Amino acid sequence: MRVFYSEDHKLRDAKTELHGGLLVTPFEGPFRAEWILEAVQKAGFTDVVAPENHGLETALKVHDAGYLTFLETCWDRWVAAGFEGEVIPTAFPYRRARQRVPNHIDGAVGYYANSVETSLTKGTYAAAISSMNVAISGADRLHAGNRFAFSLCRPPGHHAGIDLYGGYCFINNAAVAAQRLRDRGAGRIAILDVDFHHGNGTQDIFYRRGDVFFASLHGDPADAFPYFLGYADETGEGEGKGCNANYPMQSGTPWDVWSAALADALGRIKAFGAEAIVLSLGVDTFEQDPISFFKLKSPDFLGMGRMIAESGLPVLTVMEGGYGVPDIGLNVANVLLGLEGREA
Ligand SMILES: [Zn+2]
Repeated sequence: MRVFYSEDHKLRDAKTELHGGLLVTPFEGPFRAEWILEAVQKAGFTDVVAPENHGLETALKVHDAGYLTFLETCWDRWVAAGFEGEVIPTAFPYRRARQRVPNHIDGAVGYYANSVETSLTKGTYAAAISSMNVAISGADRLHAGNRFAFSLCRPPGHHAGIDLYGGYCFINNAAVAAQRLRDRGAGRIAILDVDFHHGNGTQDIFYRRGDVFFASLHGDPADAFPYFLGYADETGEGEGKGCNANYPMQSGTPWDVWSAALADALGRIKAFGAEAIVLSLGVDTFEQDPISFFKLKSPDFLGMGRMIAESGLPVLTVMEGGYGVPDIGLNVANVLLGLEGREA
């Protein structure tokens, strides 16, 4: 399958992440995409292509226009306000507060943030746009009749909501890709999110829509980031009623439990009548991931790819999370090999 990748991801190179009360070197950095690219090429996925520029038309159908303008202008406004560090919000539209965008950039950042570990930086918007282009080019590859494509997106996207950033995410690449497939004529699309963390941004975007089914397998939000969405009783609203499926799981979850949830999710996707799957692939379900608590092993990722391929549907794989160890590259390659029915 073709791999879409842009060197521009390197423009996102934050120096700080708020973690445990300290400003630490971010878990999400350029090295991740380099590890993954190297491993997938080593596994034989050598058809690596840079994306085209697609503009904001598709993104504007899943994100708020004011939010995208905020992302574009945030850094310059922050610097103009006299701040010297990376962008971190300090105040929020908390319960019973007014939901209005403040004029001051410090307030605007709080309005648009859903968490604060993620420092916004000078090149973040350009990198997020390149990542979005990687996702759209992958969607177009499916539309052209190919069964598989891999969009090596960085920064990731699934925590980015209609008008919210956080969790290392700014533009929701999987959501934009799903929208692109809809715009190109697909009737129904499923987004299958297998990242360790709940795809709260993707759920936010499609919660009231009946044309995109969202299924997420993740750490129980009572115990894991992003904490405030991802429970099993969130099933969609309005036209989206019944089109949202959450599978929260406990600390230490191994492959046999996890894969049973995947089988159920794939059954739901089939019943929904999806014409293609956008796979939000995070490999932070790996037992060695530094910020997660599932216990998947490297060979399990082959099985994951095989199970998803058994759906018979076209699959666009969009890169989300996975941290800490170079083996994240091997694990991604294993998913792709499994999709194509090949051995490691
Ligand atoms: Zn994650």
